[in-house]
This record gives sequence, C-alpha cells and structure tokens, in this order.
Amino acid sequence: MDSYKDSRKELARPYRKAVLKALLVLTIIGAILFSSMNLLKGSYPLAFVEMVMGAYSFIVYRAIRYTPHLERWIIAYLIPFFTAMMFAMATPRATSAVHAWVLLIPIISHLLMGRRLGLAVSVFYMGIAAVIFLFRHLDQPEMMQALPITNIAVISLCILVFSHVYEVTRETSERQLIRIAQTDPLTGLANRARLSDIFERERNRARRYDSPMSVLVLDLDHFKDVNDDHGHETGDVALQHVARIFRECLRATDLAARLGGEEFGILLSNTNSQQALEVADKIRMAVASAPLNINNSVVRLTLSGGVAELGIDGDTLRELVREADLRLYQAKDSGRNQIVPSISSLAATART
Ligand code: GH3
Ligand code: MG
Ligand code: MG
Repeated sequence: MDSYKDSRKELARPYRKAVLKALLVLTIIGAILFSSMNLLKGSYPLAFVEMVMGAYSFIVYRAIRYTPHLERWIIAYLIPFFTAMMFAMATPRATSAVHAWVLLIPIISHLLMGRRLGLAVSVFYMGIAAVIFLFRHLDQPEMMQALPITNIAVISLCILVFSHVYEVTRETSERQLIRIAQTDPLTGLANRARLSDIFERERNRARRYDSPMSVLVLDLDHFKDVNDDHGHETGDVALQHVARIFRECLRATDLAARLGGEEFGILLSNTNSQQALEVADKIRMAVASAPLNINNSVVRLTLSGGVAELGIDGDTLRELVREADLRLYQAKDSGRNQIVPSISSLAATART
C-alpha cells in the first residue's frame, strides 16, 4: 500500500485553486479589455467569444469556491480557454501579437493539471497553434524565414521544458514530503496519519465489494525491561527488528503502522477476524521465535494483541482500535504472548 495519491491531491488542491482563481480574475479583466477593443474594431465574432469566455470565467470563479471536484472544473475551464485562444489566433483580423499567448499554455497547463496531463494538453494546443501560425504567415516571406521561426520555436520549447521540469520537481518534493509526514522515522512503518488515510480508502473499498477488513493492535511485552536491561539504543534496534518481522509476515495489501511507543496497528484488508487472528498468531510466533542478537547478548521479545473486525466491532478506525486495545489488555492480563480474538471469531469457533 504505497500510494500517496490521495494525500497529494489534497496537498495540491489549495495551490491549484489559487492559481486558477488568479487566472480567472485575469481572464475576466482581459475579456473586458479585449472584447471592448475588438467591438470598436468591428471584430464581432472575436469580441463575442471573449465576452462568453469572460462570463464563463465568472461562473467558474463562483463554482470552485466550495467544489469537491476542482480537477474537473480545471479541465472544464482550460479546454474552452485554450480553444478560444486558438480561435483568436485563427481570426484573420486578429493581430499577430495574439500568438504571444501560446507561451501561457505550458505554464498554466502544468501548474493546474500536473506533469502528465499538463504536458499532453500543452503539446496538443501548442501543435495546433504552430499550424495556425504557419497558415496565417505563409504569404509573409519575412516571417517564413529560418531565423524568426527558429526563434519562436525555441522560446516556446524553452517555456514548455521549464514548466515541465518545474512541475516534475515540485511533484517529487511533494511526494517526499508526504512520505516523511506519514512515516515513522525509527521503524520506517506508517504512522497514525497514514493508517487513518489508508483506513478510509480501504473501508470504502470494503463497502463497495462487500469484503471484510480487520485491525490488529499489537504491543510488545515488558518492553520497559528491554530498555532497562539493554539500554534505549538496543530498545530502538528491537523495534526495528519487530518492524522487519511484520513486513515479512504481511501481504503487500496489508499496512503496519506504529501507533506510538511499542504499540502497533495493522490493517488487514479482505480479511475477516478469524483470518486476522491467524495472521496475528503468525506474527506473534515469528517475534517469539526470532530473538535479537545484539552486542553479544540475546534479547527475547514477545508481544500481545487484540483483533477487531470492521462492521462487527465498529465502523471507524477509532472504534476498531479501541476494541482491539481492550482485547490487547485482556491478553496482557492473561499472561502476555497471546492474541485475543474478536467476539465474532470466537462465535465462529464455537459453531464449528
Ligand atoms: P507491557 O507488557 O504491559 O506492555 O509492559 P511494557 O513495559 O511494554 O509497557 P510500558 O507501557 O510500561 O512501557 C513501554 C516502554 O516502551 C517504555 C518506553 O521506554 C519504551 N519505549 C517507547 N517508545 C520507545 C522508543 O521509541 N524507543 C525505545 N527504545 N523504547 C521506547
Ligand atoms: Mg508494552
Ligand atoms: Mg504500550
């Protein structure tokens, strides 16, 4: 479960919204200016397109204030915006200065749509703009020379490349930032924030496909003694050792998180409480049978745990962790190095 896509979308949203708002305001101002000038010039179709674009910008400005579908609005705005730009360029009476606007395409596309869609849309519209440019200036020998054409092509390419490289770098740092914010630095496992995010996503999936999902809460036994007997640094190594065992015992679709201290939460998608109990026991036995050899001493570790199943023990992560936690404390009270199952798996065992 290493997708940080949802968090990235969340993180990019306010910034993209701000860029879109700025673009909308500028378009409204531009539409008023240009449509007035084109009306005076008698370029009525172009003036009309500019007025429509201005009005549409105003509608979009209001629509994006509270929308949960910003990405859709961005596409619904940029496609007509760029198309209107192409229309303006193709209009015989428009000045050739209109072509300077093409340089905005890669910048806006990358800022608002990210590196992939941004690049695709830029290349598409810049290609159309190039064709329009060539058709319009075919009969102007001074423009059809290598030097002006190369100039325009190179400056367009530069802005396309800079916009793309900027967006790729921005997305990479954003991914790194989210990874750091959602990872426990000592063990490399997920932290609570990531567990929460993935839980929401997996719960939606579980509901859609009517599949089970379980949560384990595991806590190392007498861990304070490990620190007291072997030192805090060895305690840290022991936590890393246990995290490694979790990774070995879990499937790629499971998620192990450090909830804090020496307590861990494990999310098992597509797993009912009976199967979750088996996974928890497998982990418990793996930890108990793999003592840590460090600094010529042997550190024996065991853990206790509790299981809770979605829909049976609760519907939120908080409820499931609370239930699993109660069972974890039963396991501690009953002598540690054991897992207390969910009530539903106890009932299932009783039936068989
Ligand atoms: P129990 O079996 O009841 O869980 O006993 P315990 O000793 O494990 O539990 P307790 O809550 O009394 O102590 C937890 C210990 O975990 C205390 C703390 O020093 C240690 N601990 C928490 N976080 C870390 C950490 O990041 N590194 C190390 N080395 N120790 C930690
Ligand atoms: Mg403990
Ligand atoms: Mg604890």
